[in-house]
Amino acid sequence: MFRRHLGLVLVLILVTTLTLTGLATSSPTLRNDMPDYLKGFQRTVNRQVSIYPDVYYLSGPEDVRAIALTFDDGPAGDATSQLLDLLAEERVRATFFVVGEKAQEQPDLIQRIVDEDHELGNHSWSHPDMRKYTNQHILDNELKNTSQVISDTVGLAPSIMRPPYGALRDETIEFLAEERWFIINWSIDSFDWDTTQNSPEEITEKVLEYSHPGAIVLMHTGEGLDGTIAALPEIIRVLREGGYEFVTVSELLGL
Ligand SMILES: [Zn+2]
Repeated sequence: MFRRHLGLVLVLILVTTLTLTGLATSSPTLRNDMPDYLKGFQRTVNRQVSIYPDVYYLSGPEDVRAIALTFDDGPAGDATSQLLDLLAEERVRATFFVVGEKAQEQPDLIQRIVDEDHELGNHSWSHPDMRKYTNQHILDNELKNTSQVISDTVGLAPSIMRPPYGALRDETIEFLAEERWFIINWSIDSFDWDTTQNSPEEITEKVLEYSHPGAIVLMHTGEGLDGTIAALPEIIRVLREGGYEFVTVSELLGL
């Protein structure tokens, strides 16, 4: 009698677990199947978005066929000019998470990004792993100075930031939320930063395989990242055929 009862309980637990797992996949998550060394990162960001859904984002609403392409680590001279040329030609708007020390040296590109209707986000001053610094240091030495350069150039400071490597401690997320920042990671990693898998074909395949309404796609702009620029026309073509519209992060999230 007891054994039979136990069996029933186990079945109920299994059904409940499967149901919860099913529900979990429909909430915002980092979608890529990560290589083993990034599984911990994937778990962390999925946990953080579930704790801080109002300030920490991996993606936007799933009921509109819109996607936000994001380009990190610029501005980067000719590589960024070339990317902007392509986006203009394709009539695609995107979001650039820029690094302060590069923005300071290349105000013309910062201005051009804004003039061509893209969005600027803050990607720190010097691209450190923010988990190694105090909250106040991050705010003063990485975010405020970067925003100052941006606002000196284009007259407006971003309200969105992306931590380098997508990495923040929980308490830093809470601190930045109080400082009125929105933290933007991504739901699709193009892996264009990984030289072992960043041919145009590999980048295209990753982005298209995991594409979904409301996606935020992680890409980069920089010297040597030719695969990204080469992949974009096909990515844009296929997504447009699938009914997707390209929007900035703030538009996607309604910030
Ligand atoms: Zn970066």
